[in-house]
Amino acid sequence: MSAVSTLGEPYRGVAPGDLDDILRRSLPDRRFLVVSNREPYEHYWDEAADGIGVRRPAGGLVAALDPLMQAVGGVWVAWGSGDRDREEVGEGDRLRVPPEEPGYTLRRLWLNQQDVNQYYFGYANQFLWPLCHLRPALTRMRLRYWTTYVDVNRRFADAVLEEIGDGQGAAIWFQDYHLALAPEFVRSRRPDLTLAHFWHIPFPPLEIFRVASNAPQLLGGLLANDIVGFHLPLFADNFMRCSESLLDDAHVDWEHRSVEIGGHTCYVRAFPISIDVEQFRNAALDPAADSRIARLRQRYAPQDGLLGVGVDRIDYSKGLVEKIAALDMLFDRFPDMRGRFTFVQIAVPSRTAIDTYDWLNEKLERAVWSINDKWGEGGWQPVHLLKDSLSQDRLAHFYRAADVCYVNSLQDGMNLVAKEFLACQVDDPGGVLVLSKFAGAAEELDGAYEVNPYDPEAAALGLHEALTMPADERRDRMRRLHGSLRSIYDWMGEIFEGWGAVAGGAPAPLSDADRWSRTR
Ligand code: UDP
Repeated sequence: MSAVSTLGEPYRGVAPGDLDDILRRSLPDRRFLVVSNREPYEHYWDEAADGIGVRRPAGGLVAALDPLMQAVGGVWVAWGSGDRDREEVGEGDRLRVPPEEPGYTLRRLWLNQQDVNQYYFGYANQFLWPLCHLRPALTRMRLRYWTTYVDVNRRFADAVLEEIGDGQGAAIWFQDYHLALAPEFVRSRRPDLTLAHFWHIPFPPLEIFRVASNAPQLLGGLLANDIVGFHLPLFADNFMRCSESLLDDAHVDWEHRSVEIGGHTCYVRAFPISIDVEQFRNAALDPAADSRIARLRQRYAPQDGLLGVGVDRIDYSKGLVEKIAALDMLFDRFPDMRGRFTFVQIAVPSRTAIDTYDWLNEKLERAVWSINDKWGEGGWQPVHLLKDSLSQDRLAHFYRAADVCYVNSLQDGMNLVAKEFLACQVDDPGGVLVLSKFAGAAEELDGAYEVNPYDPEAAALGLHEALTMPADERRDRMRRLHGSLRSIYDWMGEIFEGWGAVAGGAPAPLSDADRWSRTR
């Protein structure tokens, strides 16, 4: 590692401070509301401090939307998930946040344990999640999951309508698959408002989506928006095709990429999400990080050792067990990697209340135990499984220290880890991104080493090539990768411009991604 590399010209270059302006210009004179399952601030009992604490749940979207909300001063409607949330709200279950310098209103909505089990762990995460990740055999559908999903969506819509009251001119931005029905509940009572939705996971093809008994209701809910965004044009196509086929009265305009139903037109666009590139880059460049990075290399890849890193939630969509199988093949086929290459997998336990996740967790632990038993020797352990949720700063240190980042998703809407790794590649010539072709990021990023997670032998060959790649090729790939990296602020800016056009009565312009798709 030597000189610090530059990131190149940003693709669009929207700065966080520009967003307030873009939003006001795109949606003038409108109050701005964000609606999501997760809240931006959660109150909890802090044992150590013997008092109530407040924390910001992890996640890039919350981190990026929070400053925007502070600038525009809107309302954020979300589930009050913290165990002390009820004690901290005032009239109408509202509070001003951020606590240290209030800039906007958080409106909390309450879910009891049964709601959480049936709407969140049930319909959203045991039905929609596996379905959208092309795993219909893993779905678990119960009528009570659906009825609670409908009920909770209606309550989210009620909370939104209460916040708006008699006021005219609001713009409401719904997030994700937990809230597919809420837009229609809002529109049916307030057709004058402008609504947008971003679906953060893949949208499956018709053959899979029609497995949902309630497919028409889900589509109808989303089509009540003026604009719906997906990560990829492929997912937008799937959504339009499902609407065309499963809704008798829907008319799809493929040229303008919109769906008309009941006299209302919804534009369907691809907006690939991203990360706060500067924040990760600064964390990697922080001089205080140097000693930490040196320690990581000393520990996992001393002397001429090679370090690979993986960062995933423990989720079947991430291809973790398949990743260990590919690593096993690597050590089998390439003896030069034994004792030299160490892989650190940061694995965040997730949705552990669901059986499938529990089983996966066990399977992963067994696979790691077995590869270490088979190949470990003389103090060298091929795979380290770190089951923990790390801060962004600590992740940035791992990303910068690594020679290779390996993302092996079987299916992934985008995969932010791939982009975070790139943002932290500040050394010349930089590491190599080994990326599943089934992660949304693979569509957008130019220069990754693409692998097929269903073919462990080919993935092992790919990994070996990545680990032995000449510096010139690594440099060239990293330059291209950096050139194709956009920020989450570019993502928001493009959404607001498209949404603004529709709210103003014009068609939404095609997005950049709508024009460059490779998989259609
Ligand atoms: N992440 C984190 N700490 C960890 C592991 C992951 O904060 O220990 C974050 C990571 O930085 C990334 C997100 O979790 O922003 C994972 O996003 P991704 O799109 O890769 O997958 P998802 O979990 O949303 O399916």
